[in-house]
Amino acid sequence: PFDVLVVGGGPAGAAAAIYAARKGIRTGVVAERFGGQVLDTMGIENFISVPHTEGPRLATALEQHVRDYDVDIMNVQRAKKLVPARTVGGYAEVELESGATLRARAVILATGARWRTMNVPGEDEYRNKGVAYCPHCDGPLFKGKRVAVIGGGNSGIEAAIDLAGITAHVTLIEYDGQLRADAVLQRKLYSLPNVTVITSALTTQVHGDGEKVVGLTYKDRNTEETHLVELEGIFVQIGLVPNTEFLADAVALSNRGEIEVDHRAHTSQPGIFAAGDATTVPYKQIIIAMGQGSTAALSAFDYLIRLPAE
Ligand code: FAD
Repeated sequence: PFDVLVVGGGPAGAAAAIYAARKGIRTGVVAERFGGQVLDTMGIENFISVPHTEGPRLATALEQHVRDYDVDIMNVQRAKKLVPARTVGGYAEVELESGATLRARAVILATGARWRTMNVPGEDEYRNKGVAYCPHCDGPLFKGKRVAVIGGGNSGIEAAIDLAGITAHVTLIEYDGQLRADAVLQRKLYSLPNVTVITSALTTQVHGDGEKVVGLTYKDRNTEETHLVELEGIFVQIGLVPNTEFLADAVALSNRGEIEVDHRAHTSQPGIFAAGDATTVPYKQIIIAMGQGSTAALSAFDYLIRLPAE
């Protein structure tokens, strides 16, 4: 059995594993895909002190750094169930799809999240070639260019306001007849000169020239007419889905399915900690996930040293 078992091998899980292992305690990491979302990222320019890196490179570095320590890495293994300890200080169990069951006194959940996609032709083909999901990450790449934001909820409107300050023009496309964002955000958005808002519009295709995005087509849901918008970038903001389905009701989740954590990365269950995009932490970013992963490991250590001796 482990002292600390980390579920997830993205930035949060890697940081948690290193911080735990550095305490000299038995540490394991189980991950469906070590590296996490970082593997799907091209340029990364906001990982402080590293002005530019690439996703696969950072993912390799994460794994190498973890391997510098005595950590049991179980890659390509998916957790399907968590059973918290019945008594404080007992063992929690993590059941894997493979049929194995891992036991640990403290578990750190770091299973991340996935962006909801539009599922239209061209979206996959031009991902990272104009199709983007993270305005904080990729906004500056579109300086002076024309972009669209798909989605009129709070994250879409925040993205549009953010991008309006960087890019030449922003077209905001919302499926519904009206925007769903807070009124204060909508007022701000409508005050901007370089933003066009289109409602009742369904994005149907991403167009590219073979190398990068050159436009998108949307269908006006009132008239059924299709329209082409020429642009260089498309930010999809229709939801970030936490990978927490396997937890069922083992720990408290928010109404969006995010693991509820406090500022010490404690969940609702003693001995279970959580970090990164899978949690209620605001702003889903690599550096934030790493910080919170470290917090979770230090909290887990604090928990372990207070348990009665075996
Ligand atoms: P993740 O990276 O999602 O890792 C989750 C881990 O858990 C993975 O190993 C996954 O396989 C594993 N897992 C999931 N479910 C299970 C399960 N049931 N059992 C076992 N393992 C499981 N952030 C930046 O700071 N800068 C950027 O430039 C940037 N660009 C981005 C570009 C793209 C295209 C995307 C998608 C994201 C980008 N981000 C960027 C966001 C950043 O990648 C995330 O905030 C960060 O990866 C979150 O780390 P995490 O460890 O919480 O989760």
